Amino acid sequence: MLAPAPGDRRRDRTGPVTPASVAIVGVGGLGCPASLALARLGVKALTLIDPDVVDVSNLHRQPWHHPADVGRPKVASAAEKLRRQFPSLHVEGRCERLTAASAEAVFRAHDLVLDATDGVSTKFLLSDASVLTGTPAVYGGVLRFEGLAMRLERHGPCLRCLFESPPADVPTCAEAGVLGAMAGVVGGLQATLACAPSPEAGVGLLHVIDGRELTFRVVKVRRRPDCAACGDGARAVLVDPEEGSCSVPASTSPARSAR
Ligand SMILES: [Zn+2]
Repeated sequence: MLAPAPGDRRRDRTGPVTPASVAIVGVGGLGCPASLALARLGVKALTLIDPDVVDVSNLHRQPWHHPADVGRPKVASAAEKLRRQFPSLHVEGRCERLTAASAEAVFRAHDLVLDATDGVSTKFLLSDASVLTGTPAVYGGVLRFEGLAMRLERHGPCLRCLFESPPADVPTCAEAGVLGAMAGVVGGLQATLACAPSPEAGVGLLHVIDGRELTFRVVKVRRRPDCAACGDGARAVLVDPEEGSCSVPASTSPARSAR
C-alpha cells in the first residue's frame, strides 16, 4: 500500500492518510490485529480502551494475549506487547468501559476512533459520538463467518443510516461463536480503512466479507436525510450502552439496509 510519511494528517481525498493518533475501543479479536496493523502503518499514538481482563477463552483469536496474561487487564497485556515491538509508538491503556459521559472527550482527543467492540449498543454510541464530534470512526463486526467494516465520516452516513436502531435479539459473540481468522481479516481491514477517507462525501462504503464463500463485496451506503443522528436538522445524542450483544445484527441484511 502506498502511504505518505507516518503521521501525515492531510485531509485530502486523493489517497491514503495515516492518522497520527487513534483510539481503539476494544482490545479483543478485532482490536489486537487492528492495533498491530496501525502500528505498522505508522500511527504515532494509540489509546487502548477496554474494561475486561484476559480470559483463557480469548487466547485463540486475540494474539496480543498469551497464557501468562490470563487475569491481567487486556489493555495492559496489549500495550506491553505493542511497546516492545514498536518502541517509538506511544501507547496508553485505559482499563475502563466507554460511556456516554466519556465518549465525546475520547473522540475529540484523537484523529480517529476504531470500533473493535463486542456490543451492538456500544457500536451505536461510537457512531453517534463520531457524528457529534466530527471525528471519523471505523466500524467493524464479526459474527460466525461474516465480517463487516465501514468508515464513518463527519457528515455521514452513520451506523443508524444502516441499521436504524440496536436490535434486541442479537446473540453475544460467545453464544454465536467467532471464527478467529475472520476477526483477523476484519481488524486488518479496519486499520486500512483508518487510513482511507471515503472518496465521495455523503457516501460510505460497507465492506462485507463472507468467510464461508470467500467472497468480498462493497455496498454503497448513502446518508439518510431522516437519520436520527446524522439526518437533516438532527443532533446525535449519546446514550450509555447496554451489555451483552454481539457486533453484527444477524437479522439485518446490509444489502437490504443500504440506501
Ligand atoms: Zn446516520
